[in-house]
Amino acid sequence: MYILLMGPPGAGKGTQAEKLVEKFKIQHISTGDMFRAAVKEGTELGKQAKACMDAGQLVPDSVTIGIVKERLAKPDCKQGFILDGFPRTIEQADALDRTLGELGIKLDRVINISVPADDLVSRATGRRICKGCGATYHITFNPTNVAGKCDKCNGETYQRDDDREETITKRLSVYMAQTKPLVEYYQDKGLYTEIDGRQPIDKVFSDIVASLRGA
Ligand code: ADP
Ligand code: ADP
Ligand code: ZN
Repeated sequence: MYILLMGPPGAGKGTQAEKLVEKFKIQHISTGDMFRAAVKEGTELGKQAKACMDAGQLVPDSVTIGIVKERLAKPDCKQGFILDGFPRTIEQADALDRTLGELGIKLDRVINISVPADDLVSRATGRRICKGCGATYHITFNPTNVAGKCDKCNGETYQRDDDREETITKRLSVYMAQTKPLVEYYQDKGLYTEIDGRQPIDKVFSDIVASLRGA
């Protein structure tokens, strides 16, 4: 199964991707996670990405497309994948189209998790990530059993540098200008499903699974 997961920052892409990976045993490809890993390693890519991320801007298309192409060419992607947070521009979507064509892969579904802007700020400011396994929590909506400790691996949870209110507002405006046009792009391809992301996490998940069954 080849799934593309779209939605504004804080919509719940990472949360749903974690659950889909567990259910369907497919690869999770998150450009945000890849950039955060590069930042942690202190590579050139990491330095470039950090500057963009902290400013709430997108990492340039040429860079982002390069790393995704490399990732998709790996053999484990043949078993299926969830692309989370890519594409975010029309140029990235066109590049993805060409790359998948070369690999002989056809997307099964494009899922857009829709959440109004008003809810996104509190989702992002309350988000916490596990340092150990990358699991996503929310201080109010999806808290860990023990404060500051991951339920899955007991790792420490932290707040992302770019989950401050000013940066989130910037990211939302970047989303509206550069990423939202992809809704129409994929609607035209006929693979598009919109899911109401204001519902509880498990209901969003069951709606996604139902839409994949109908794919
Ligand atoms: P994205 O990957 O789209 O940026 P995340 O999956 O990281 O979004 O979710 C953003 C924040 O909102 C996290 O703290 C997560 O725990 C929380 N969250 C995710 N889905 C829901 C939901 N359906 N209802 C309430 N909070 C949610
Ligand atoms: P969120 O789902 O909360 O927006 P992500 O983890 O997907 O967060 O992305 C974090 C940051 O990484 C983005 O704000 C952007 O700077 C960078 N990034 C992630 N994916 C892309 C992409 N496809 N193109 C350009 N920049 C990206
Ligand atoms: Zn963990």
